[in-house]
Amino acid sequence: MSASTANLTVRPSAAILSDAQRAEKMSSLSFGRTFTDHMVVIPYRDGAWQKGEVKAYGPLMLDPAASALHYGQAIFEGFKAFSQPDGSVKAFRPRDNAERFNRSARRLAMPDLPPDLFMEAADALISLDQKWVPKNVGESLYLRPLMFATDPFLGVRPALEYLFVLFASPAGAYFPQGVKPVTVWISEDYVRAAPGGTGEAKCAGNYAASLVAQAQALEKGCDQVVWLDAVHRQYIEEMGGMNLFFVYKENGKTIIVTPELTGTLLPGITRRTLLELAKDLGYESEERKLTVQQWRDDIAAGRMTEVFACGTAAVITPVGLAKANGFEMAINKGENGPITMALREALLAIQHGTVEDRHNWMHTIP
Ligand SMILES: *Cc1c(COP(=O)(O)O)cnc(C)c1O
Repeated sequence: MSASTANLTVRPSAAILSDAQRAEKMSSLSFGRTFTDHMVVIPYRDGAWQKGEVKAYGPLMLDPAASALHYGQAIFEGFKAFSQPDGSVKAFRPRDNAERFNRSARRLAMPDLPPDLFMEAADALISLDQKWVPKNVGESLYLRPLMFATDPFLGVRPALEYLFVLFASPAGAYFPQGVKPVTVWISEDYVRAAPGGTGEAKCAGNYAASLVAQAQALEKGCDQVVWLDAVHRQYIEEMGGMNLFFVYKENGKTIIVTPELTGTLLPGITRRTLLELAKDLGYESEERKLTVQQWRDDIAAGRMTEVFACGTAAVITPVGLAKANGFEMAINKGENGPITMALREALLAIQHGTVEDRHNWMHTIP
């Protein structure tokens, strides 16, 4: 399909890759390095979203004074589309991303993008570039919406001009060698988000501020950083760019516990999904605060049996070892746990369309 829609003019790329060229690019997919033929751009000026374009993927022209480059009004999202057994393509909960995009926009004093326009852009791009949706289990088309301030003005105030961009990247299996637990460094030197700050918003600056902490985790021999709350430096918040879950076994019951949303955590769509999916699998779920000390005590007592992180890119990643200044603890002997893997399989089955989508999470691309 390449017809223009109400708010988008489609200008097909003059340099679409041949089937052979595309197959070559898709034969060895990693994450975030290969991009499809097209992208969507929608400018905002004079207080309104203007007519957008679907056009050839490529560099953007920016004024050096564009205020996002100076003062950081920049937000993004991430969601995935999956090839279905019947040959159709479905995206996982994209409207939830559209709504979160707007919550991020408001926090950074940026304009709302109507969710219907977000969906129109997603439908147009995915249907035009649907040959780029990988077919193998574990693979997907990763969609990256973003918005940033383009105003060429050095004064500090909310910009008057913005650009919304949506592009897509075919993504290979996150664990090509099979799922393997990660090791985490509990950071005491850095915090990700403070009360009243931007922790709930998916904004570029949160990531910029996290990079030295992630580098420190690598120095300590860990794969990822675990963030603690900024005030008490005790409560567990997140792991890198993923939410955390703790699995408890109590009197024959399985309970999955995730830190409650206090305003400093990113409200993950995978997190919310797993809270609902847990019920389908016969588990209970709780959102509450959890300290590092409780984490250590509950592991030592055998009440806590597994820990995992979740997010769009990696879906679910087991945590096998946690380290901090002065201690380290193994979780489930450093192996993948059964509850972690059951939730992972259940979510992937819904996304790949091999089981019924009881919660109506999948959006069919027209
Ligand atoms: C995007 C993100 C997540 C995960 O959110 P999903 O909607 O599940 O992908 C978690 N934490 C941070 C900091 C994030 O930016």
